[in-house]
Amino acid sequence: KHISKSYPAGFGKVDILRDIDLVIHEGEFVSIMGPSGSGKSTLLHIMGLLEEPTDGQYVFDGELVSKLNEKKRTQLHRGHIGFVFQAYHLIDELTVYENIETPLLYKNMSGGERKSKVADILDRFNIVAKKDLFPAQLSGGQQQLVGIARAVVAQPQVLLADEPTGNLHSEQARQIMELFRTLNEQDKITIIQVTHSEENAGYGNRIIRLQDGQVVS
Ligand code: ATP
Ligand code: MG
Repeated sequence: KHISKSYPAGFGKVDILRDIDLVIHEGEFVSIMGPSGSGKSTLLHIMGLLEEPTDGQYVFDGELVSKLNEKKRTQLHRGHIGFVFQAYHLIDELTVYENIETPLLYKNMSGGERKSKVADILDRFNIVAKKDLFPAQLSGGQQQLVGIARAVVAQPQVLLADEPTGNLHSEQARQIMELFRTLNEQDKITIIQVTHSEENAGYGNRIIRLQDGQVVS
């Protein structure tokens, strides 16, 4: 409700998001579209509990986020949200395997269970051969795949993905969108993706269009 975000600039401020009212229901598959700089990533980061709005109220799963302390917010993020970053944000010092395993370390899971979950994802994403490489040894598209694998491995309730297929060729992009569809329809994961592709957006049930920090449709 009334979500705004601004940054200080000179003696004043610059408004990035302006008075955004939005409800996203459990089970939806929503696409956020809009020109570069319109505030899509900023909005997604707020939804993912990674940034706070300057103004307005954000309710996530019944909790008013501004009322939560840092620890509770981190718990909510780790426990419920999978996030695919626009710039991947893989951990350079960890292998592909270890990067994908990271979210599972925050769950109460045995070593054997973790192993089988990571193995399953590596297989599903066709990156078994890359599992012992470090991010710097991968192509951009491969890093993007690892970022998506890491976001979905723990079966989050909500998947937030910032241009998840921006660096993939069209066949890989289609495969990822098919996977998202399965996660949404069968695993009942709520999905919110930022995308520049109308084709990707077609996989979802709704498109939210941003312009200059406002929802225009
Ligand atoms: P793109 O499609 O290029 O990824 P976007 O819609 O995701 O664009 P954002 O990354 O949300 O856009 O950025 C929106 C605006 O907010 C941009 O003008 C950007 O410069 C500004 N902005 C983002 N983060 C900051 C920050 N930390 N400080 C100041 N300005 C910022
Ligand atoms: Mg962006």
